[in-house]
Amino acid sequence: MAVPKRKTSKSKSSSRKAQNTKKPISRASSCSQCGAPQLSHRACPSCGYYNGRQVLTVAGDE
Ligand SMILES: [Zn+2]
Repeated sequence: MAVPKRKTSKSKSSSRKAQNTKKPISRASSCSQCGAPQLSHRACPSCGYYNGRQVLTVAGDE
């Protein structure tokens, strides 16, 4: 089995692991009902609407 010739330096391994950080959601769209930011293909967390109709009962809405 092949063995690495050199120990991976702290700098090399930390710069590799820097790519695994969680990035902010870039493709957030806004709700057509209330205009709040929401994820695509998911019901709106603030008003509970999806595809033009209410699918969730949001606490504090009524
Ligand atoms: Zn909404």
